[in-house]
Amino acid sequence: MEDKKCLCRNGDIKVVACSGASNVGQIANQSAIELAKDNVAGFFCLAGVGAHIKGMVKSAKEAGLMIAIDGCPVQCAAKTLQHAEIEPAIQIVVTELGIEKSPDLVHDEKACIKVLEKVKEELAA
Ligand code: SF4
Repeated sequence: MEDKKCLCRNGDIKVVACSGASNVGQIANQSAIELAKDNVAGFFCLAGVGAHIKGMVKSAKEAGLMIAIDGCPVQCAAKTLQHAEIEPAIQIVVTELGIEKSPDLVHDEKACIKVLEKVKEELAA
């Protein structure tokens, strides 16, 4: 298959989310969207890294700072990056912020705010 160029926003700080099929996966996804909207980080396509799309793995490796937001301790986003030899500088696990995992796919706004605050706190550290 042709190695198409990704249209992810370029930026020195990039964020990937597990986007898993659970409330916490969707909270991870929505939080990455909010970080992009706030111009904190460019939302990067994790699936492209998982698919070993050459140009996308290269772009991810070239990020000045990579943030991985995972829904739960399985940490699919961080592990996908690590498989491609990319070590996230900041790793957030939504359930570690006191948010319980459930299959309902709802991204609670208050939970997203908690994630955003945590990311900003880690960026400032
Ligand atoms: S980290 Fe957890 S919520 Fe996210 S995709 Fe993996 S198993 Fe699903």
